[in-house]
Amino acid sequence: MYSKEELQRMSKRIEEDMKEKELEIDDGKKYLSSANLEIKCTHCSHDYFHKSKALLNTRGMTYFNLDWLNETATTLICDKCGNILWFGKEVYSIEEKKA
Ligand SMILES: [Zn+2]
Repeated sequence: MYSKEELQRMSKRIEEDMKEKELEIDDGKKYLSSANLEIKCTHCSHDYFHKSKALLNTRGMTYFNLDWLNETATTLICDKCGNILWFGKEVYSIEEKKA
């Protein structure tokens, strides 16, 4: 059994952990396209995004049994307005590019 004090300390630490992670997620990052240009939102001109991958799964390709031609695209979701930008090539966060 944990003492009440220990439990309080643990739940406080978990709370702090969650806050840190939230901040990390909320902030987003600045990205460069493979053309080496800083990416800005086409809708609101904000420059912080959340990166993820999406599958370019086209019905035609599946029909012809050419699923292997389906590629992944990189999507950047604008931190401010939620607009989604699609890239067929890799994008790099500015930190990655510096490293
Ligand atoms: Zn935006």
